[in-house]
Amino acid sequence: MKFSFVSVLALLAAPSANAFAPSTFGVQRSPATSSRLSATAVETKAFSKLPATIKPGVVTGKALLDLLEHAKTAGFAMPGVNIVGSNSINSCMEAAKAYGGPIMVTFSKGGGQYIAGKAADNTDDKASIAGCIAGAKHVREVAALYGVPVVLHTDHCQKAWLPWIDGLLKASEEYYAAHGEPLFSSHMLDLSEEPLEENIAICKEYMEKFAKVDILLEFELGVTGGEEDGVDNTDVDSSRLYTQPEEVMYAYEQLSQVPNAMFTCAASFGNVHGVYAPGNVDLRPDILHNTQKYMKEKLGCEDDKPMKFVFHGGSGSSVEDIQYAIEAGVIKMNIDTDTQWGFWDGMRAYEAANRDYLQAQIGNPDGADKPNKKYYDPRMSLRSGEEAMRDRLIQAAKDLKCENVLD
Ligand SMILES: [Zn+2]
Repeated sequence: MKFSFVSVLALLAAPSANAFAPSTFGVQRSPATSSRLSATAVETKAFSKLPATIKPGVVTGKALLDLLEHAKTAGFAMPGVNIVGSNSINSCMEAAKAYGGPIMVTFSKGGGQYIAGKAADNTDDKASIAGCIAGAKHVREVAALYGVPVVLHTDHCQKAWLPWIDGLLKASEEYYAAHGEPLFSSHMLDLSEEPLEENIAICKEYMEKFAKVDILLEFELGVTGGEEDGVDNTDVDSSRLYTQPEEVMYAYEQLSQVPNAMFTCAASFGNVHGVYAPGNVDLRPDILHNTQKYMKEKLGCEDDKPMKFVFHGGSGSSVEDIQYAIEAGVIKMNIDTDTQWGFWDGMRAYEAANRDYLQAQIGNPDGADKPNKKYYDPRMSLRSGEEAMRDRLIQAAKDLKCENVLD
């Protein structure tokens, strides 16, 4: 095959124990926020199997950290799903309600632009920013109606795209001033094309801004192979597809210096965006296990899994590989290609089943004068897409051991 494969395992790096200790988390918050958090801690649990901080709806800050730490300890990963509009957003939340677990709704720069509308002026990423904000507000309005925890996240942001994140950060800063929490739970920065030191230096600079408004950073080391949303890594040198433990440790040390830092790491372990024929992807989850072992020794900590990893390019991976990666501290796996197919397959099946009723506004096998309005109403085919995407996500949750983890 011509393309090379990058395995990007996003390592969710847990901040250092001190950085995340309840006693220090939120120390610099406003009094109002602090008292709100204290009140939350004594409230009845919303979910019997989850920490009390986690409520239905969008989770950020301490609640997000608690959720990810819990996932790592309990041994499950949540699906992180790329969405392109309210149909796919709602499919995510419907799926999470059905499988009984959390979900991460993920906006890409292109997905955000699509939500704003392809004809909207995208000068200086204006449409990408506005579309992501609009989508996030949609989630915030309806998420609690599904009764599940939802993480609001953004996907790959390379160096040239940072103005997009700057726009979203501004929206979160404004939201924080009004509500005491950020609009988005987390953002990914993918500076893996840059030298390691520059990658981490830029991440650290953003970590400082994020930490002030309780946003978690997902960073990438190494390169995810394949192609996604206009980023083509199919010809990357294969050595960059496998992250070294020393690189993860370096990033962990640097980012942990930021007060109130919360971060996760996407490390490459042979993962690839897209779906390829069997035998073309050499996934190496043992790289994650070895990294945890290395870090535990270096840090001299009790935790066997000091890093939280995230797994990019999960579509097409075997269940065995996925679950072995979860054992190494993977707490989220990105899914895009498989849910894109799911959505399309649902609409395809709808059209195939109702073809004779979809050829004209009037006239079908039941009679030349019979109306077809109830068949071609866009909600019919789109709903079939939503249902098929939901079912694909329920399967993903099974693979990720994310079923029935709430109550
Ligand atoms: Zn990715």
